[in-house]
Amino acid sequence: MQNNIFNFENTYMNLPDEFHSYVKPRKVISPKLAIFNEDLSTELGFNFSSFKPEDISNLLSGNIIPEGSSLIAQAYAGHQFGHFTILGDGRAILLGEHVLGDKRFDIQFKGSGPTPYSRSGDGLAAIGPMMREYIISEAMHYLNIPTCRSLAVVETGEDVIREQKYPGAILTRISKSHIRVGTFQFAVIQEDKDLVNKLFNYTIERHFPNLIESKSKALDFLYAIIEQQANLVTNWMRIGFIHGVMNTDNVALSGETIDYGPCAFMDHYDPLTVFSSIDHQGRYSFANQPIITQWNLARLAETILPLISDKHENALKLAEEAINTFADLYQSKWLDMMRLKIGLITKENEDKSLISELLDVMQKHKADFTNTFSLLSENTLPDVELFKTEEFLFWYKKWKLRLEKESKSFEDMRKVMETNNPKIIPRNHLVERALKKAEEGELKTIKEYIKILQNPYGSQINIADEYFMPPNDNEKVLQTFCGT
Ligand code: AMP
Ligand code: MG
Repeated sequence: MQNNIFNFENTYMNLPDEFHSYVKPRKVISPKLAIFNEDLSTELGFNFSSFKPEDISNLLSGNIIPEGSSLIAQAYAGHQFGHFTILGDGRAILLGEHVLGDKRFDIQFKGSGPTPYSRSGDGLAAIGPMMREYIISEAMHYLNIPTCRSLAVVETGEDVIREQKYPGAILTRISKSHIRVGTFQFAVIQEDKDLVNKLFNYTIERHFPNLIESKSKALDFLYAIIEQQANLVTNWMRIGFIHGVMNTDNVALSGETIDYGPCAFMDHYDPLTVFSSIDHQGRYSFANQPIITQWNLARLAETILPLISDKHENALKLAEEAINTFADLYQSKWLDMMRLKIGLITKENEDKSLISELLDVMQKHKADFTNTFSLLSENTLPDVELFKTEEFLFWYKKWKLRLEKESKSFEDMRKVMETNNPKIIPRNHLVERALKKAEEGELKTIKEYIKILQNPYGSQINIADEYFMPPNDNEKVLQTFCGT
């Protein structure tokens, strides 16, 4: 069997030893391919055509090591719910960096055995959480949100012990890199003070080559990451996504969404929505996400102060100024994004209150976040509770008047709305239903569901109503778990 699928060129291992440990994936008893992402495989130039399913299972479970792999676990630290901890890939192994033209992708296994950073964990993963990452990361990709992707889930044929036994599985995750805010936090606490510098130069070369010649590289880098994270969180707010575990180790400097542990999509609009079972204080609630993004950016800024200026006071002043730009930057991105959600291309002073009023009415009437926006662009208001309320109808008249100030026709504005308001999101109750079936060995439901999620903005002809509908009271999923 050929196993030179990946065009590996591994640069991360050239960083000083502190940044990684050499590891080997644990061999598994009887690997079986549960799901494989053909589209992504083609996109990345992989050629599995000569592979039998069992060859793919062996390769993507780590039983056969692909040629050119470097096999490392990465070290990092992170503020978890505000508390600083030393971490590292406790159940992930980086195989290498696949190079395709001028692009570079980390190929990583998740759930393939312990590493020196596993602490008390077993390094393993159960099929539910790995499939969850697969479904939601794919959904995010098709929702046009930067994200890591999922190439495959392989069942290991072994049980994983959690509160009960579950089938074990390994996910192959693809990312532009796995450098995190937490990687910088790890570097800065090492004895060797040059490590931050080395990581910084590596990150610039890999993600910001346009800054290589800059005279104020570190400050420019900080501003670039601020912009990138403001874009990311604005996108999350657009689709009602609640990440759930915005610890600094889960903030990727590639700008991609990573760590799909307890994340979930909001059904009815409530800014205080929290799903994660461990988020007792609501630190990572829907509305807190931009605030936490800024907090996480401040943690990054702290690590590069000496690179911003060799005079500490000056570095602090420049970093603070940069971090303080976040609030206004986010506000303006959020407002523009919300304008597009209600079909406004031009800007008027009244827009902010128009949007807030709609959100207030939605919150009061527990209106579905996704459907309210997507149904607004229908020519006649559909038969939905919210749309019959006096408060909404009052707002609706105002909105129609505001739309008249736009130079484009309603048809054109409708198109704008349709590309910004998904019709389909991975609703928690449907995700959980598909995962439950996968745990029982039935994979058809999950595969069908993923197909539907691949066309979130399109005209969804022949798709059953249940995919659009919010859950009934007895279907509601109120809590999600990290799945570690
Ligand atoms: P997370 O909350 O998923 O970002 O994970 C926090 C840390 O716990 C990371 O360092 C993970 O690699 C580690 N971790 C999570 N699950 C396991 C596990 N089953 N075994 C070992 N380490 C784990
Ligand atoms: Mg994580």
